[in-house]
Parts: sequence; C-alpha cells; structure tokens
Amino acid sequence: MSAPSAAGRNWAGNVIFRAPRFAAPTTLDALIELVGAARAVRAVGSRHTFSALADSDDLLVSVEAIPGAVTVHAERGTASVPAGLRYAEAARQLDAAGWALGAMASLPHITVAGAIATGTHGSGDAAGSLSDAVVALDILRADGELVTVHCGDDDLAGAVVALGALGVVTRVELSVEPSYRTTQVVDRGLAWDAALDDLEAVMGSADSVSLFTRWADPERIDQVWRKTRGETAPAPLSGAHRAGEAGHPLPDGPAENCTDQTGAAGPWFERLPHFRAEFTPSHGEELQSEFFVPRDRAVEAIQAVRALVRVIEAALAPFDARPHWGKVFTADPAALAGLYPRWADVAELRERWDPRGVFRNAQLAAWGL
Ligand SMILES: Cc1cc2nc3c(=O)[nH]c(=O)nc-3n(C[C@H](O)[C@H](O)[C@H](O)COP(=O)(O)OP(=O)(O)OC[C@H]3O[C@@H](n4cnc5c(N)ncnc54)[C@H](O)[C@@H]3O)c2cc1C
Repeated sequence: MSAPSAAGRNWAGNVIFRAPRFAAPTTLDALIELVGAARAVRAVGSRHTFSALADSDDLLVSVEAIPGAVTVHAERGTASVPAGLRYAEAARQLDAAGWALGAMASLPHITVAGAIATGTHGSGDAAGSLSDAVVALDILRADGELVTVHCGDDDLAGAVVALGALGVVTRVELSVEPSYRTTQVVDRGLAWDAALDDLEAVMGSADSVSLFTRWADPERIDQVWRKTRGETAPAPLSGAHRAGEAGHPLPDGPAENCTDQTGAAGPWFERLPHFRAEFTPSHGEELQSEFFVPRDRAVEAIQAVRALVRVIEAALAPFDARPHWGKVFTADPAALAGLYPRWADVAELRERWDPRGVFRNAQLAAWGL
C-alpha cells in the first residue's frame, strides 16, 4: 500500500502527490500569506489531470474554499467566476441569471482555473477550448502581487493555458452569451470508410461531435455523440443507427452517469457535458492520453492510428501532434519545443513572472518548462 500523502492523490489514482503540505485557505489574504511564505507552491484544482503536473516540493494549495459567486457583467457580455468553482456550479449560477457558456468539457466536475490551465476543451467545429472564453484573469504571483491580465495585454496568451506555472489564479472573467437549449443524440456503427470519405461533413453535422471507439470492430466507429443548439435533434448519420437506449462512452459504463441522449432539448449545461455532475464521470480508474493534429491532416492521422492502434504516439509523430497537457504522454523537451513556435516566449514569460521558480515543479522540468 502507498504511504499516506498530506496532499492526497489525483482523480485517476495514478499519482500520489508528494507535496509535504496541503492548504485550502478560506480567504484571499490567507492565500497571499501562504504563498508568500512557501519555498515552492503549486495550485491544484479538482485533481482530474492524469500526471503529477500539479505537484509541489513544498505547498499544494487549493482556492476552492475561498467563497465567491458568479457575477455577470451584462453590458460587456462577460462573467467573473471564482477560479476554484467547478464548471457544474458556475454553469448553474450562470443559467439561473439567464446566461450561458459557449462550450463545456465532457465532465463538469473540473474547476474553472484547473481546466483552462491545461487547455481543456469540449467538442465542435465552431467551439474553441474553454480557455478561448477567458477575457481576464487575476493571478497571485510569487512576489505576492495580485495581477489582473486582460484581453489585449501581451501576456494574456501565455497566462491562460499556463499549467499553473505563473502563479495562483483567483478569478477568471469569461465571455458569456444568453442562455440557450441544446439536444443530444448518439448514433452507433458508423462505417469508418463513410466517415473518413467526408470527415468534414460528419464533424460539421452538429455543433458538437465526438467519435468514440474501442477499435474492436475495425470497420465501424462504436458511437458518435452529437449536440445541437435549439429544439431539433440532428438527423441520423447515413449508414449509422440511432442508439435505442441510453449509453456511456465506455462499453460497460453506467448510462445513468451520462447526460440525456434522447434528442429532447434541455438546458445547455445539461447537454454539453457527456457526464452528469452528480455522478462519477467514467470509471475513476482509467488513464487517458490525447493528441491534437492539424484538421487538414485529420483523416491521414486517424488512418495511421487505425493501422497501429497501440503505438499511438509514434504513429502521430509525423503529424506534429500536440499532447493534451492534462493527460498521459511521453514526449521529451526537445520534441515538445519543436511543436510550439512560441516555446521560447513561454520561457521568457515564466522567467519574468517567477524568477525564483516558486511555481516550477518536477513535471514541468521534465517537459523542459
Ligand atoms: C474522466 C475525465 C474526463 C476528462 N474529459 C476531458 C474533456 O472532455 N476534455 C478535455 O480537454 N480534458 C478532459 N479531461 C482532462 C481535464 O479536463 C484536465 O486535466 C483539467 O486540467 C482538470 O482540471 P482540474 O480542476 O482537475 O485541475 P487539476 O488537475 O487539479 O490541475 C491542472 C493544472 O491546473 C493548475 N491549476 C489548478 N488550479 C489552479 C489555480 N487556481 N491557479 C493556477 N493554476 C491552477 C494546476 O497547477 C495544474 O497545472 C478529463 C479528465 C478526466 C479525469
């Protein structure tokens, strides 16, 4: 059995945090004091990242206990959200005020700051990552200063998907829009050949499209989950059949953990995620990897993975695939640096914001960050 850890473990249980201290201050002043006195600090959210990215040599700190509510700024179409709020709660408060987010991840259990820090995303041709909605951030830096970075500031681009490396985010201002309704349907058995013949049509057939497969049937995609704004569900995909009963993205997963798939319209925040907030998403014991390839090479990349199935990173290397920062991958610093034209700018930003390396940790070092 692993030794008990002051800072606990991540959601999947594959990482026991080594940080000797964990704190969840209940006021901003207490947070400032803690960060100022610590030798090394990392912020942690709801712990859904699959690596030791959030771990610290000294203090692991959560902002979830600092009280606060969503405040809508209707005149500028934005909302201020406490950084430690989970998306489920942020969405509930926004909807109660008549407002909505444009996108959500598959699970609403994650914190706003933790999700945007790793570039977490939902799905859909027109949907950006959750970080795209950020118009301003309040960040507590290692020098004790609480800095607001706004849209238009040079540092915003590097401060949003920052992997916790610049400081502790305490507030996020997000773009919002009037509340809307959405439908969700699941089709099964779509032939790979049909999908790859016109992938653009499949991906454009709804506002959000996710393909799930175990590769068990080499010819067919197990499930296509689609979500569309409004009251009308998307038509079945040609060659696939509409799932007769509710399911789960994993073959043996409990359907009741998932959002409505009947095609009946409902509130945006009860359809955009795949998983319902009141249940554990997925199994709680899996590991996930994820890579992003340029859209115009998507068909080739899928074909390469279909051919190999298991040796995924090697198969995706020719496509300059960028790993998801919150998931499992093995790329070394040189390989990562080659994938990002502004890699050097990130190093410069971090050096300027955190010259003593208070927010650096072993995981970031292993990636050359
Ligand atoms: C079952 C499951 C399903 C998932 N589905 C999706 C999906 O649909 N789409 C997707 O893109 N990803 C998905 N993920 C990955 C997940 O969204 C990311 O790992 C996300 O970062 C988790 O957020 P968190 O609040 O748990 O952050 P944590 O894992 O706790 O932390 C992540 C990073 O954020 C930093 N951080 C946290 N809080 C703060 C703060 N206040 N200030 C500064 N930095 C901070 C941490 O230091 C760390 O670097 C999934 C993960 C799981 C387990």
